[in-house]
Amino acid sequence: MRIVLLGPPGAGKGTQAERLSARLGVPHISTGDMFRENIENDTELGREAKRYSEAGDLVPDEITVTMVKDRLAQDDARHGFLLDGFPRNTAQADELDDVLRQLEQRLDAVLRFEVDDEELITRLTARGRSDDAEDAIRHRLKVYRQETEPLIEHYQDLLVTVEAAGPVDDITDRTMDALTREREH
Ligand code: AMP
Repeated sequence: MRIVLLGPPGAGKGTQAERLSARLGVPHISTGDMFRENIENDTELGREAKRYSEAGDLVPDEITVTMVKDRLAQDDARHGFLLDGFPRNTAQADELDDVLRQLEQRLDAVLRFEVDDEELITRLTARGRSDDAEDAIRHRLKVYRQETEPLIEHYQDLLVTVEAAGPVDDITDRTMDALTREREH
């Protein structure tokens, strides 16, 4: 299966992606993780990405899209993937559409995780990552609303919405059920 995960920072995309990736047998591709790994290893890409991610801004499309294209070209992504954190704006979504068209592949579903704002702030503040200072959190939520939320429209026909509140296991089960239903119709 080829799936895109959509949802605000703090919606639990990463946690669910890990679990869904194991259940579906497709790689979890997280652009946030890729950037963090590069920042940790102090690579050129990491040094470039750092100033944006620390401010809660999106890393420029050119850098991000190149990184994702390389990753999708790897063998393990040929038969499916779970994209977590990409695309983040309509330009990236258009690029992804192009890449998939060239590979003669298409997305099976876009999973949208829904959580209310108050819960998001609580979760993010508790997480304590370096880009989780309160100002940066608010900024990232704003970026999400402005840049990423329009993708809901872009992916209208593929959208599968999951209520992402409550116990982690329940959310995974609900997501798997929703995907199965989507596949059947
Ligand atoms: P995440 O773990 O998905 O919240 O990503 C952490 C940070 O990495 C984001 O705040 C952005 O600075 C950067 N990032 C991750 N994915 C993307 C993307 N698709 N486009 C631009 N920047 C991204």
